Amino acid sequence: MLKRKQKPLFPTKVVDNKEIAPGIFTLETEKKFDFIPGQVVAVALSAREEPRLYSIASGKQNEHIRLLFDINPDGLLTPRLSKLNPGGEILMSEPFGRFLGSEEPAWWIATGTGIAPFISMAESGFSNNKTLLHGARKPSDFWFSDLFVQNLKTNYHRFATRESGPGIMDGRLSHWLNMQTNLPNNIKYYLCGNANMVIEVRDILVSKGIPFENVIAEIYF
Ligand SMILES: Cc1cc2nc3c(=O)[nH]c(=O)nc-3n(C[C@H](O)[C@H](O)[C@H](O)COP(=O)(O)OP(=O)(O)OC[C@H]3O[C@@H](n4cnc5c(N)ncnc54)[C@H](O)[C@@H]3O)c2cc1C
Repeated sequence: MLKRKQKPLFPTKVVDNKEIAPGIFTLETEKKFDFIPGQVVAVALSAREEPRLYSIASGKQNEHIRLLFDINPDGLLTPRLSKLNPGGEILMSEPFGRFLGSEEPAWWIATGTGIAPFISMAESGFSNNKTLLHGARKPSDFWFSDLFVQNLKTNYHRFATRESGPGIMDGRLSHWLNMQTNLPNNIKYYLCGNANMVIEVRDILVSKGIPFENVIAEIYF
């Protein structure tokens, strides 16, 4: 099998690591490089292992880099990442990737930890003229919702599939999207999350006349 060319990794100090909900962590590190909101970094704990990718989930002016991750209990990296303490060290690449936020009008669509790049975009001041569709299982899974309520106001739409809550619509965001008749077709749609969601939403958007090139996708695997 052809191995991906590995990006150089740099020793990077951990400054904070918090469990913000069961199994969900924000890991903050020193910031060695500037980045464009939406970009990812490769992370590993030793040079011998294949790095995993994480979206940067902090504003471009912030002093530190924040990552948002959930524990994969059988995973190689995330159980160990969750145990890091301030002062510990990880290996991190320079930021890279083409999922790039901007100040142009756009729709942001995310499920699960796929909200991470939109946290970076919102904290970087890109919330004007944005609509966010945010899907999760239950009301307590909308991490960083205060940030989006404050910045996007009525353009922030939450969808929960398992439990209801105030201000949250029941069901999948894809069902709601399917019922819309007048989606703007001259703006970009940024999709981030698991492959099933991204592929389903992209198909819906294209079936409603959104040009394929206006759909920008970041698939987490
Ligand atoms: C562009 C992108 C951005 C992402 N951003 C985030 C994010 O912001 N937050 C988040 O929680 N997750 C994110 N992910 C998922 C993340 O990279 C990891 O897959 C996840 O954290 C689980 O890692 P793990 O090592 O614990 O689990 P593992 O099950 O060990 O690995 C998970 C994935 O890593 C890959 N992998 C496993 N073994 C190998 C190997 N030997 N060689 C190469 N690859 C291997 C496979 O794709 C596997 O499905 C992102 C993924 C991508 C592609």
